[in-house]
Amino acid sequence: MPERSLKDMETEVFWNAVKTNDARFDGAFYLGVKTTGIYCRPSCRARTPKRENVAFFPTIQLAEQFGLRACLRCKPKEIRGRDSQITAILKVCEMLESDDLFSLDMLADEVGLSPSHLQRSFKEIIGVSPKKYAEAKRMEKFKNELRSGSDVTTAMYDVGFGSSSRLYEKASENLGMTPTKYKKGGQGVEINYTITDCELGRILVARTIKGLCNVAFADDDSTLEASLKKEYPNAEVTKDAAVLKGFVDEILIHLAGKKKRLDLPLDIQATAFQMRVWELLRKIPYGETVTYTQIAEQLGDKKKVRAVAQACASNRVAVVIPCHRVVGKDGKLSGYRWGVERKSKLLEAESCDE
Ligand SMILES: [Zn+2]
Repeated sequence: MPERSLKDMETEVFWNAVKTNDARFDGAFYLGVKTTGIYCRPSCRARTPKRENVAFFPTIQLAEQFGLRACLRCKPKEIRGRDSQITAILKVCEMLESDDLFSLDMLADEVGLSPSHLQRSFKEIIGVSPKKYAEAKRMEKFKNELRSGSDVTTAMYDVGFGSSSRLYEKASENLGMTPTKYKKGGQGVEINYTITDCELGRILVARTIKGLCNVAFADDDSTLEASLKKEYPNAEVTKDAAVLKGFVDEILIHLAGKKKRLDLPLDIQATAFQMRVWELLRKIPYGETVTYTQIAEQLGDKKKVRAVAQACASNRVAVVIPCHRVVGKDGKLSGYRWGVERKSKLLEAESCDE
């Protein structure tokens, strides 16, 4: 008998249905009992088996393939049809379990219910709202990813945390840990920075103990320092060229076109959506450009073009996250946080490198 013949999320819902003899689930799944070798409908009034002896089957055929016999008491073969409401709710569960993000309207549309009806029925049958359910499922996956060794950032976008930063904060709350210590303007964070000359004017490079937190260009040092302080008003910020030397060298070599890949550790404050966008940006090869629309498409939502542009504009580590490689649809450079002229120079330097 399979340990899990259906998705984990369904098994919880199914087990609840069994415990409450919920007849609405009859036909939605079958309950196989290892110890007795029989399968039942969820509403069977026979004594509830122990959880560890139970497996769930989506069809009678599958249950019988595993050598189980139909229960004589509840006669699962005589079920005619399925409860349409349960069918709809299970479909919604499945959608919420996927990596895509759905609004209540989209879910409702998919199963042909009104949003308010779906909201009500879902809560009644599953016990929580669709939103809570999706959050719980994502949190579960997130924790599993972390246990399997992914770092927090990777785990975040692998499980598709949405654009909501509230959800992101929730992640740290629920985990009892803080992915980055950036709440309250960097309180308790030690930041070291240095400023030097580069091809594009003055460049500021700043780091925490974990990685780069700011790389920026400007014409003068006071602008750079002011913007760093504005970003992390409560952090302990110290100028220290020595601790930045390794990072600065790498970046300057890169800007001079001598090293194409710039793979430096980052420690940046971000919403989950920003992280997903920035991760895609880091995959754009040297010397190539993509459009904002293409990034939005890669994220699975063409309509997010503006949000993508905003995420690019809020990049805090110039060049290391190469937001300069994202351009407008018509090839126009669009904006750049550190000046369109610098963007143009960067792209030019990358393109004539061949
Ligand atoms: Zn039975």
